[in-house]
Amino acid sequence: MTEIAPGVHRLEFIIGAKPMAMHLLNGDRVTLIDTGLPDTPEHVHLPALRELGRAPEDVSLALITHADADHIGGNAALRRLFPNALLACHARDARWCSDPEAITAERYDAYFADHGIRYEPAVFDMLASWMGPATPMDLLLTGGEQVRLRDDDWLTVVNLPGHTLGHIGLYNPRHRYAIVADAVFGRTQIDVAGAPTAPPPYIDIAAYRATIETLRALDIELLLTCHYPVMRGDEIAVFLDASEAFVNDAEAVTLRILREAGGPLTLAAAIDRAAPLLGPFGFAEDLKFAMLPHLELAEARGLAARSACDGKVAWAWTGGSVDR
Ligand SMILES: [Zn+2]
Repeated sequence: MTEIAPGVHRLEFIIGAKPMAMHLLNGDRVTLIDTGLPDTPEHVHLPALRELGRAPEDVSLALITHADADHIGGNAALRRLFPNALLACHARDARWCSDPEAITAERYDAYFADHGIRYEPAVFDMLASWMGPATPMDLLLTGGEQVRLRDDDWLTVVNLPGHTLGHIGLYNPRHRYAIVADAVFGRTQIDVAGAPTAPPPYIDIAAYRATIETLRALDIELLLTCHYPVMRGDEIAVFLDASEAFVNDAEAVTLRILREAGGPLTLAAAIDRAAPLLGPFGFAEDLKFAMLPHLELAEARGLAARSACDGKVAWAWTGGSVDR
């Protein structure tokens, strides 16, 4: 455990080969940022509280940054271990944050009916093991709320959508840091050795671009994510530039593969063609998250027409000008 900023403790651990960091705010009350996996409250948060001389009853708030298995999995355990803690998330992510069945069907398995893309059972098993029982939220946020740490030290809830529609982070203007969880991904997700794993999984291009701009506009010298090393100073701008460059490249690659396909492309075929151009990735299948909105954007711009191919949605280049 490291006190990375005044009252902010970074709790790092590893899930398989995936680096993970939870954040704990030790103030007049204790606030947890995300609940992690089902065993995280007991195995990560509880020992940290003990080390800080705080009681489980001191935890008054758990802010869920966004709906993903590795950020909501400890919700039920949190209720049990920290009975005074309110569970909070953005209103737009509340359904998925509360209900493992809903997030599995509507986020992780949302690409089968139209696109024939579905994780192997082992991946679903892994995701299921990362989540506990359904647990309702107590408090829904919309961004702009302020949370007092101690004295006159406040953090502001910042909307950082793109990865999910209700992704939030926390900004501390006084100590110039932001806790942004999985709001931005550079050019790739990484394992503990820094090797590329899955591609940036944004689901809304315009929102993700706006989030990069939001983060650029914050006056920070410390950027805290959940799956990347701590970033300071110039490293922050480099990472945000890389995040934007990936989106620009994905947009250009989408148009190129549509143009070169000579016929309709399904989402799966688009991923096969785009992955080597945008990667390398250890788990290219997760390009489904970003490639679908990129194909839909090409369609919205009139550069691709939607059709069907073997019962799956497909897009074909319309020969339009890419300058449009
Ligand atoms: Zn995550």
